[in-house]
Amino acid sequence: MGVIFDIKKFAVHDGDGIRTTIFLKGCPLNCWWCHNPESRNPEIEEFHIPQSGNHSGEFKRVTIGRSVKVSDLLREIEKDIIFYDTSGGGVTISGGEPLMQPRFLKELLQGIKEMDLHTIVDTSGYAQWKHFEAIVPYTDTFFYDIKVIDCDTHVTHTGVPNDLILENLEKLMDVHQDIRIRIPLIPDVTDTEKNLHDIGQYLSQFKPLRRVYLIPFNPLAKAKYQRFGYPDKVKDFQVQSPEKLKECTDILSTYNLNVFIEN
Ligand code: SF4
Repeated sequence: MGVIFDIKKFAVHDGDGIRTTIFLKGCPLNCWWCHNPESRNPEIEEFHIPQSGNHSGEFKRVTIGRSVKVSDLLREIEKDIIFYDTSGGGVTISGGEPLMQPRFLKELLQGIKEMDLHTIVDTSGYAQWKHFEAIVPYTDTFFYDIKVIDCDTHVTHTGVPNDLILENLEKLMDVHQDIRIRIPLIPDVTDTEKNLHDIGQYLSQFKPLRRVYLIPFNPLAKAKYQRFGYPDKVKDFQVQSPEKLKECTDILSTYNLNVFIEN
């Protein structure tokens, strides 16, 4: 059994083609800008949130997370097999941090590969290497986040140091060909000139160089912070302008990286 907090069907922004994205619950990081703050706690949680449009002070109970068996998820995935086949899609496992449930993740990926479907694991990189090794044979593509190279800044904004993340990336580069680096662009945190040069310099050690995807800051998660009562540390942050995005792209391109902007 594993704990998930959502399944998104017909997803078109979580990798190539039409995909089913499964969100596993639990993450060891605590990024200021987390898009799925309700994903971080590995336990199933109950919230009492104000009824929308109701000013009488009534609350409704919302449960985030549910326990599922791999076999149930595989049955759900199988229903859309025709869409994956015709679009070149597949299944993306995201979170939270999927590697926080290593046994469940491996079993799920094995089952998906038995259906001959394409698999993506979207990871923060913060997990024991042995857990990465276990899923490499069943993962077609890794989405791998690199946020900040300066370790102290990384600790401040994510709650953990980045040495394990960088070490794992270096090991993974040796054993896997399809790793897409993703950089969430957070104003004045990850999108600074210095940090992007640091990331470019760091990534330039890998030959051949991989694709790098920039993810512009998206303020849509603010509503979730309000709804669930989490402190919102990025509430005043603004979306990057097209000029700023070009500047970020240009910096990374000087390191011969193939840079794309994700929408
Ligand atoms: S690594 Fe991803 S899921 Fe985890 S806290 Fe950061 S943004 Fe949220």
